Amino acid sequence: MGVFVFLFGIIFGSFFNVIIFRIPNKISISFPPSHCQSCNHELKPIDLVPILSYVFLKGKCRYCGEKISIQYPIIELITGLIFLLSYSIFGLNIYFVKSIFLGSIVLIVSMIDFKHFIIPDSISLFTFITGIIFNVIIRDISIKSLIFAFLLGGGLLFIIAMFGPMGGGDIKIMAGFSLYLGLSKTIMALFLSFTLGGIIGVLLIISKIKSRKDVIPFGPYLGLGSFISFMYFSEIFNWYLNLL
Ligand SMILES: [Zn+2]
Repeated sequence: MGVFVFLFGIIFGSFFNVIIFRIPNKISISFPPSHCQSCNHELKPIDLVPILSYVFLKGKCRYCGEKISIQYPIIELITGLIFLLSYSIFGLNIYFVKSIFLGSIVLIVSMIDFKHFIIPDSISLFTFITGIIFNVIIRDISIKSLIFAFLLGGGLLFIIAMFGPMGGGDIKIMAGFSLYLGLSKTIMALFLSFTLGGIIGVLLIISKIKSRKDVIPFGPYLGLGSFISFMYFSEIFNWYLNLL
């Protein structure tokens, strides 16, 4: 079953590559069909087998020989792992579905923010709507908790945005994530995001990969913090209590 879930994941990963490339460039997701970005040759099903096509073509286009970005198989692989991890934690149920939705959104948002320094409104809106739908189906988070989570997730970032480097995209996507999480998990998600973002940001500046003036996208940290909080809330909470 694990193998099946993993394969299911990499097929979705292949679709996410299309989303990651097309949404920021404002191209329709369904049209035109997949083609080589260098020679525009339309790709056949055999060129589109997740991971395997890349390996067998040695990372080059079959038609023009131009290099294909390693990003494609990596996104497919990570999606497979997100699906597998979700399955190993939740089994096959509605929580698994919620988990792969959240994990996939996080992956897509992180890649787009990382490359283009934007978080598309369409993705934040999708997160908002699916977050509400999952709450209607599962009903494991109280409405009060959701409202406070939403106000905290969006509100805290909004306050930070008034004084410092925080974009509108960050505010909207975090408000969306908070609907997946409820209040306690949102608090932990924010805590993890700022800790991770702070540590990695300082490391990037010390190692001179980034300067103090560079824009460092925050979406990936918000996403990672939210996903870790969703998956491991009780483990981290108990570890923290033991620490105290
Ligand atoms: Zn080509």
